[in-house]
Amino acid sequence: MRSTRSVTEIVPTHIVREGGGFKVRRPYRMGKVLSPFLLIDEMGPVDYGPGEAIGAPWHPHRGFETVTYLLDGRMRHEDSAGNSGELNPGDVQWMTAGRGIIHCEEPHEDFLRTGGRTHGFQIWVNLPSSHKMMEPRYQEVPSSESPTVEKDGVWARVIAGECMGTTSSIDTTIPITLIHVRMHDGSRLVQNFESDLNGMIYVFGGEIALENEIRVKTTPFAFGTKARQQIRDGELAILSKGEELAIRARSESEFLIFAGPELNEPISRYGPFVMNTREEIEQAFIDYRNGTFAD
Ligand code: MN
Repeated sequence: MRSTRSVTEIVPTHIVREGGGFKVRRPYRMGKVLSPFLLIDEMGPVDYGPGEAIGAPWHPHRGFETVTYLLDGRMRHEDSAGNSGELNPGDVQWMTAGRGIIHCEEPHEDFLRTGGRTHGFQIWVNLPSSHKMMEPRYQEVPSSESPTVEKDGVWARVIAGECMGTTSSIDTTIPITLIHVRMHDGSRLVQNFESDLNGMIYVFGGEIALENEIRVKTTPFAFGTKARQQIRDGELAILSKGEELAIRARSESEFLIFAGPELNEPISRYGPFVMNTREEIEQAFIDYRNGTFAD
C-alpha cells in the first residue's frame, strides 16, 4: 500500500522587514524550517509608488543556495562573479553561493521610476558539508523557458524536480523539489515523492486540504492531538514522510510544494553565512574582511 503524506504541524507566518527594509511574510519557526530548507520569505506583495521600491544592497553569502522566484515586479542583480541580469515575473534565479558570492538584489531602474507591485519568494536551500565550499554557480531560467504544466484545473510551474510528468531544467546539488501550484476550487493534485524526503507546503492564496487515510478520533479527549489537514493562506504545513501527496483545493488557491533530503548535519548560522561549525563562520568573516571571500 502506498503511504500518504499528512500535515504534522502548521507553522503560521508573520510580517518582518528584511534587507533594505522590504516587507516579507515569513514562517515563525525560522532558523530551522525543515532540512534542507533554511528560509522561506514571501516578498510582499507590496505596492510601491514612483521612487519607493527598495531591495537588498551589496551583501555576501556562503555555504548554501538562494532561490529567487518573482511573481510581480522587476528586479536587477549583480554579483562578484561578474554575473548580472534582471528578473521579471515568472523568472527563477537559482544561485549556489558555495564558498562565497557577494551580490546585490535591487529594483530595476525602470520599475523604481514607475513604481508598481512587487511579489515573489526568496528561499534558502542548505548545502551538505561536502558542498559548502563548492565553486559558486548561477542558474537563471526566464519565464518563457520555465517548464509549466496544466491539467484538470491544476496549473504548475516546476522550479525544481518533477510534477505531472514535467521536469525542471534546474540542476540542483541535492535532490530538491520546488513547485508553484495554482488550483481551481475543487480540483485535485497527486504528487509523488521519494518517501523519505522531507516535505512541506506554503499556501499564499486560498485554502487546500490533504486527503489521507488518517481518521481523527471524535472523542473530546482527542481534540487538538491531530494536526488539521487544511492549509490556509499564510500557513506553512510540515508534512509526514510518504510516497504520495494528495491535495484537494477548497477554494481558488495558490501554494509552493517543497521536498528535499534531511541533511542531519549541525548548522552554524550567522546572518548571510550558513556553515556547520562556529570556526567556519569565523573563517567566513575573516575571508570577507581580507577581501579573499569571493576570489
Ligand atoms: Mn542575497
